[in-house]
Amino acid sequence: MNSRYELRNAMKEIPKMKPVVDSAVKRWENDGDIEYIDYCEKDRIEYWDGEFMRTLYYPETDTQDRIKDSIICDPEAEQFINPEACAAFIYNCIDVNAVSSVKNIAFIYDDADDSRISPAREELYERAGDGCDEYAYEVGLDMLGITWVERSTIIINVREIAEACMKEARLNADVYGSPVEAEFAHEFKTCLTSTLCHEFRHAVYELNDFAPATGLNNEGPYPASGREEAVVEEYGGQQAADLMRDAESSRYINKMLNRDRMRAYCERKAASPETGHDIDEEYEL
Ligand SMILES: [Zn+2]
Repeated sequence: MNSRYELRNAMKEIPKMKPVVDSAVKRWENDGDIEYIDYCEKDRIEYWDGEFMRTLYYPETDTQDRIKDSIICDPEAEQFINPEACAAFIYNCIDVNAVSSVKNIAFIYDDADDSRISPAREELYERAGDGCDEYAYEVGLDMLGITWVERSTIIINVREIAEACMKEARLNADVYGSPVEAEFAHEFKTCLTSTLCHEFRHAVYELNDFAPATGLNNEGPYPASGREEAVVEEYGGQQAADLMRDAESSRYINKMLNRDRMRAYCERKAASPETGHDIDEEYEL
């Protein structure tokens, strides 16, 4: 992997993307390939990739504050997660080539009966900027997460994750005779981490036109076959397991979770009927 934390551990430099971008832009200009480059910012390039507007934040100057500002979080999602700690995890533990190409990260918690559009979805609609992308109101419904490619946005569906994890936690608690709260906390941690790893893996392939060594000979950090959904799924699960085993990454992960409020959620749920899908039924982009 290529996260800040691992690069620091290996005493390696953060990849310097600006020179790569400069030479690519020169090539595009020479070939007449690029229709629009807004290239005036120090920390990023904004450009038209032929299909969508893209932003690439240079990994060498990207900051945790920028990630924090990119996060949109529904108030109900904060029953489970702490958005600032999520920014710290994403900034330190996720591949810099993925993080640098994502503009927004939305933690959505939809109403059970769809009676109201969530504030995070309203904000997503606003950030889309052109006042016409109503997909913001439904992207990621019935999924654990999705990479909204057109908008360089990662959606984490916290309600779906919580309900799927509650179902799993109840089964496990029955089998092992353990407390539901403990099972739920474990399931939620695993599912949130692997969904983040999964979606950010899509981001490298779908959003970053400058990720090195994509494609050729199926080698390098981003082999062509790695783009396929089944491979992304396996990668996300494996990476999450690796991160949870590592002492420092695991501290970042644990800080994302709002354990007290999670416990309260479990108590409330204990008295209510089953909802949500099984984890295994879920699919993602
Ligand atoms: Zn996927």
